[in-house]
Amino acid sequence: MEKVDLLKVDIGELKKLEKLSVKGQVDWQEIELDIGKCKILSPVNFEYEMFADKDTLILTGKVKTKIEHPCVRCLQPVELEINGKMEAIYLPKSEMKYLKKEEELEELENTIYYSGEELDLTDRVIEAIILEVPMKVLCSDDCKGLCPVCGENLNENPEHVCNTESDIDPRFEELLRLKEMLGNH
Ligand SMILES: [Zn+2]
Ligand SMILES: [Zn+2]
Repeated sequence: MEKVDLLKVDIGELKKLEKLSVKGQVDWQEIELDIGKCKILSPVNFEYEMFADKDTLILTGKVKTKIEHPCVRCLQPVELEINGKMEAIYLPKSEMKYLKKEEELEELENTIYYSGEELDLTDRVIEAIILEVPMKVLCSDDCKGLCPVCGENLNENPEHVCNTESDIDPRFEELLRLKEMLGNH
């Protein structure tokens, strides 16, 4: 059986068929988010349709997977179910010159200009996952977070109180930096 990369679309064939339905799976191990790399816990399933209206190519689809993301308060890993959408309109690069500057900005969001004979939808799958990650990931709504002095997990040790103004445990500084990054989200 011929091995086909299901995220690559042959533009000529799509224009001939006018419609393409594809279902597949990729085994990615991690994804780069703005907080850093996050583990992907289950195969990334995708299902998409592409339509060709002359030179305009329209993509709609779904992406399903599970990723691991730290809780913004206590930094414990949280499993996130991802049910993302793939959406894009592809226009030939030659049409770019017809757009005025302001139009160009507005159009850019979901519009991608293509050239060549093949589209690679890999980035659309990655975007679909990234867009599904909530602004504030919490392990639970009432997560108590970490002690700001020593980093003790207050969910595991709710009675914990730090009385001393002692130095922050150096092992903890890195975690606190990450927490700060997450908090500024
Ligand atoms: Zn938490
Ligand atoms: Zn403490």
